[in-house]
Amino acid sequence: MVRPICAIIHTNALKNNLKIIKKIASKSKIWSVLKADAYGHGIKNIFPILKNSDGFAILTLDEAIILRENGCKKPILLLEGFFNKEELCLIYKYFLTITLHNKWQLNNLIKYKSKYPINIYIKINSGMNRLGFPVKDITNIINIIKNQINVYEITLMTHFADASKNSNFIRKQINNIQKNIINYRNFSCSFANSAATLWHSYSHYDWIRTGIILYGASPTGNWQDIAKKKIQPVMTFKSKIISIQKISSRETIGYDCQYYTNKKYIIGIVACGYADGFPRNINNKTYVLIKGIKTLILGNVSMDMIAIDLTNIPEAKIGSSVELWGKNIKIDDIAKSSNTIGYELMCSVTKRVPRILK
Ligand SMILES: *Cc1c(COP(=O)(O)O)cnc(C)c1O
Repeated sequence: MVRPICAIIHTNALKNNLKIIKKIASKSKIWSVLKADAYGHGIKNIFPILKNSDGFAILTLDEAIILRENGCKKPILLLEGFFNKEELCLIYKYFLTITLHNKWQLNNLIKYKSKYPINIYIKINSGMNRLGFPVKDITNIINIIKNQINVYEITLMTHFADASKNSNFIRKQINNIQKNIINYRNFSCSFANSAATLWHSYSHYDWIRTGIILYGASPTGNWQDIAKKKIQPVMTFKSKIISIQKISSRETIGYDCQYYTNKKYIIGIVACGYADGFPRNINNKTYVLIKGIKTLILGNVSMDMIAIDLTNIPEAKIGSSVELWGKNIKIDDIAKSSNTIGYELMCSVTKRVPRILK
């Protein structure tokens, strides 16, 4: 028997989410963000399904090469540009769009000799204070690169620190750009991430960059916020029961004897542990779904297994399917119960879990 854990990737949910994003930002083009192996979903699987997006945004040259070598002809944006100057050769060879966010990159781009030009995204630090040039330097940088023969089109890019529904900070960042870069609308602009796409339409401009909502988790951590927009979960992380134990009162379950029984229990052991990417630091109110019923995880998560309460679910047997997260158990809820965000959980599903397209 093959170990039963897998991550089902629901292609229709993915297509649905892209369609909804297109409707919400109907005047903008869409970068589908595929970094971190498409947020853990598998970049090779995901990009053909998202063929209706206008381009793919990724982090590393390796990811770009995977896309090109698998037949991707669309624009590809390297979200942090290049990390060493040897990469420039491949960037031009594969015709990639690059983000330019520091002086070192700027100097190396200027020096690079190429017969044909590529598109450049100039990253503005408008308040996130992570990457990008200060707003006051942008006009100068535009003037430096606009006449380079190896540069074709310039787009202005920024990233929002907080674009949640009631945030004022996003306004502040846009005002900062408007005030300091007088002619910014002479250029194409790409500012909005998923949260800004959903809740701040004035931030959409020419190109949005959506990641998390494509995959069906909420940028706020509250699944209700995206369910309202009809965004659907794309991944079902599931496994099966591989053992059932009947235990009496005053016994313990699992490592560190962390769970102490105060009555008789029937427990099921599920083939899923932290080595699969299930978080170990969940609180004691964390649920899975079996036979359509939500039931608690009991005791510590092991490397390869968890224990769940089957006391009131007699129909559960060895081989019964268990949803760890998906349509019923929201990844945002598992994230909350382990003090993180859906983004991190998606990226943490490990290599030994097969991704299966449905
Ligand atoms: C990851 C990333 C995004 C996508 O963010 P989501 O919140 O997943 O939509 C957009 N822009 C940049 C620069 C990023 O690094």
